[in-house]
Formats: sequence, structure tokens, C-alpha cells
Amino acid sequence: MIITEEIRKSILTRVTGYLKKVSSHSLNPYVGCGFGRSSCGVPCYVQHNHWLTKGRNWGTFVDVKLEADRVYRETYKRESVWARRGGGKFSIFFSSSTDPWQPLEKKYRVSRALLKAMIDLPPDKIILQTHTADVLEDKEIIVKLAKRTSLRVHISLEGDREVLPGLPPPPCSLDKRIDALAKFSEMGIETVACLSPLYPLEDPEKFFSRLALVGVSGVIIDHFIEGDGTRDGSRTLKTDLPDIMREIDASSVELLYRDKIAKIARRFLPVGISADGFSGNRKSVLS
Ligand code: SF4
Repeated sequence: MIITEEIRKSILTRVTGYLKKVSSHSLNPYVGCGFGRSSCGVPCYVQHNHWLTKGRNWGTFVDVKLEADRVYRETYKRESVWARRGGGKFSIFFSSSTDPWQPLEKKYRVSRALLKAMIDLPPDKIILQTHTADVLEDKEIIVKLAKRTSLRVHISLEGDREVLPGLPPPPCSLDKRIDALAKFSEMGIETVACLSPLYPLEDPEKFFSRLALVGVSGVIIDHFIEGDGTRDGSRTLKTDLPDIMREIDASSVELLYRDKIAKIARRFLPVGISADGFSGNRKSVLS
């Protein structure tokens, strides 16, 4: 358990960098990620945050912010006033450097307690971002929260292949994640499929048509170039992912691939690109 003073400082974090386009705050119920050794952990940009990892290998540690809901309630007023100054919005990205529904959530329910606290003290906007269909375990709470604030569920898919040869298995099967998008869409929740980082696609038309059919509100297409916190994708280039992608389709490691796929996706759904897409800016017409 992390000491309370540490949690107090870090539970509602005022965002910097590219996330400024997306929200006023990030909220991370855990430090580290239990999915760090699955496919998404290989290029995960959080592993490069040394302040956060404190030298520990990505996927080998998770710190639990046990009192996060209490600290949210205690700091809500201060942080919402700060965010709303000058007519701004108090908006939360949940989460930017961990997965709120990672395996330890079943034991500690830190994310669930936070969502309940937000029903009492809602932000103006919240994005729930995850790699797993386990977010469905909180569907009733999420539906309640959506009545109190503007809420979107983002589920990361990366692409239409279950696995890329050379990568470990994903945190959750592709079908389950698409099914979770379908279920939230049926419940009237705004849902977004995040191809982040974009993998080489097998059959883009079929994939985007399937997403549109299940009721997804839009897709975000985020190439590792311009999408991993660096302009040139240099963080991801240090990992095995680019070589694995190149083996399948050499063009997929170029930024032009993102634009080609976005053009196809726009025939089926509104599309947002990188941080702009995460902010909710999606275009449904070819541009
Ligand atoms: S779930 Fe998210 S935070 Fe966790 S390893 Fe995967 S990409 Fe990183």
C-alpha cells in the first residue's frame, strides 16, 4: 500500500504534454500494470516513465492506491475549481498510465470505488480507457455515472488480428473486447474503439464494418509515430513491435499507413487521429 500523502498528490493529476488536448486531469488507480507482460505491454510507453517505474521492469510490479476514492472526494473541490477556471472543463482520463480493470482490480476494486465517488462528485467529462472486457463488471455503475456526466468508454483493440506472431497474447481476446463495445453501445453509452498503436490490419473493410454494426460511435487511429509521446516514434522503435509489424506488412511502420487506414475507416465510422481523436474530435467525412 502507498502512503496516503503520496496518493493525495497523485490521484487527480493535472495533465501535461499531449494529454492536454484530451483532459484536464488523469486518474490512475494503480502504479504499474498487470497487463505489462501481455502484447500491449511490449510497446507500452509508460515503461519509459522512470519517475513512475523507479527502475522496476515493466509488468513486474503493481502498486495499489487503496485510498484513492477517499482522496478523490477530498481533492475534488480544489481540482475541479482549478480545471474550471476561465470556463474550462473538469475532465478526467481514466487511465493514462495503467489499466483500471487489470487483474488486481478484482481483488481491490479501487476503480469501482472511484466510479462510485464520481457518481456523488461528478467531473464534467470522463473517458474510461481499458484493454479488457472486464470493464463490463462495472456496467451498472458506469450507466449511473453516464447519467451524471459526459462519459465515453474507450476499448483498445490495436487491430483485427488476435495476436501478432512474435508478441505475447493480448490482455483479453479481440472478440470479448468487441463484445464489450457492443454491450455498452446497446446500453446507450458512447463507445470508441482505439487502434492504438495501429497494427497491420488483415481486412480493414470487414473490421470497420463489424465495428459499425455493433454500434461503436467512432474509432481512434493512433500510429506509434506521433502516438507514443514522441514525434518520430522513437520510444516504440526501441521495442520489438516495429520489426514484428514489418514482417507482416512493411508499409505499416510508416505514418502513411495510418492515413490509408483512416481513409478506409471513414467509410464506416467517424474517425479521430491520435491525441485529437482521444479528445473526442472525430470526422466522419473523407478529408
Ligand atoms: S493495459 Fe495499457 S498501461 Fe497496461 S501494459 Fe497495456 S498499454 Fe500499458
